[in-house]
Amino acid sequence: MKEIILIKLGEMVLKGLNRRTFEDILLKNIRYRIRNLGRFTIRIAQSTVYIEPQSDDIDLDDVCEKISQVFGIVTFCRACVCKKEIGDILKKSADYTEEALSSVKTFKVESKRSDKRFPLTSPEISAQVGGAILERNPHLKVDVKNPDITVTVEVRDFGAYVRYNTIRGQGGMPVGTSGKATVLISGGIDSPVAAYMMAKRGLKLNAVHFESPPYTSERAKLKVEKLLSIVSRYSGSIDMYTVPLTKVQEHIRDNCPEELFTILLRRVMMKIASKIAERTDSHALITGESLGQVASQTMDALYCTNEAASTIVFRPLIGMDKQEIINISRRIDTFETSILPYEDCCTVFTPKHPRTRPKLKFVKLAEESAGLYALIEEAVRNTTVKTIES
Ligand code: ATP
Ligand code: MG
Repeated sequence: MKEIILIKLGEMVLKGLNRRTFEDILLKNIRYRIRNLGRFTIRIAQSTVYIEPQSDDIDLDDVCEKISQVFGIVTFCRACVCKKEIGDILKKSADYTEEALSSVKTFKVESKRSDKRFPLTSPEISAQVGGAILERNPHLKVDVKNPDITVTVEVRDFGAYVRYNTIRGQGGMPVGTSGKATVLISGGIDSPVAAYMMAKRGLKLNAVHFESPPYTSERAKLKVEKLLSIVSRYSGSIDMYTVPLTKVQEHIRDNCPEELFTILLRRVMMKIASKIAERTDSHALITGESLGQVASQTMDALYCTNEAASTIVFRPLIGMDKQEIINISRRIDTFETSILPYEDCCTVFTPKHPRTRPKLKFVKLAEESAGLYALIEEAVRNTTVKTIES
């Protein structure tokens, strides 16, 4: 029996005139995700994408796993391909569903006929397919209200399809339909979740990571690369810019009031990330900040941090509790890596009592008198880049 994968599109169907662009980007993303799994014919018609394997050795479970990570897909399923003849549909629907139906008690059949030239109506198709299935599985009963399994028959342009197992996709919008943004990525729990959430809204991602060797280790950086490679399962490839911050941090330690270390560092991060974003055609920054989570994320601290950015900053976690963030990080599989205990440059020279209500005027005065600008430029010049993909 020949099987294909059918994908139902989401929100993007509503996008009117831009719909073609959206569909083209989604198809490109799907092709990229399954590029190593074999040869496929992929086409789109009536808000459905058809993925047809071109050889028998392709494992459709692997394809489904990849598809389940692509944004812009609401639901998808495997389906058995039939000729557009009722005889073939009856035989294949009984064969294809036999194993799944053997372990349940009730079922129903739904039919959709978008090819109106097909001689039977939808209710007629359902009745006949239901009869064929009951004949094969005498233990079954029809339950139209609450069946254990719903078998769907679709008679469409290119053929007829039988399916019974619809899987939820990631939803969201295809990556690349909303432009590009730069995520400030640490090794923590929050920033990979923030990156995932904004990629889900269609943003292509860049990443900036700040390191402070020797205070932060090579293993800490490898952990961040690992996190980005997990995020890239959903977002596609990510260019990771690694910025050495040791000199800036030592300079702040030696020249600024201790209680302002954290807020000054946060501002430096925003300034450098803004410069990298500008150079890479990226029009927004993304952080994992959540209001009130730590001293540097109070309302006053965020106000001072934000003022240092020269472009819009997305903070998708701003109103979320830690537990809600953890739930997402478990679901997207970053949690176990995030909790590995490596150091981050934010924890280097942390003050005993960071100012939780910093005043922008004084923070800027400290920043100016410390003369950080040349060091910031030097850090940008010494940035390295590496493309991360899964
Ligand atoms: P996370 O769990 O993402 O590390 P956090 O709760 O530990 O966040 P902070 O350490 O205050 O919070 O960092 C707030 C945000 O600043 C992070 O979510 C991230 O976007 C950014 N950030 C922190 N450290 C770094 C770093 N070393 N490189 C790049 N961005 C960073
Ligand atoms: Mg952190």
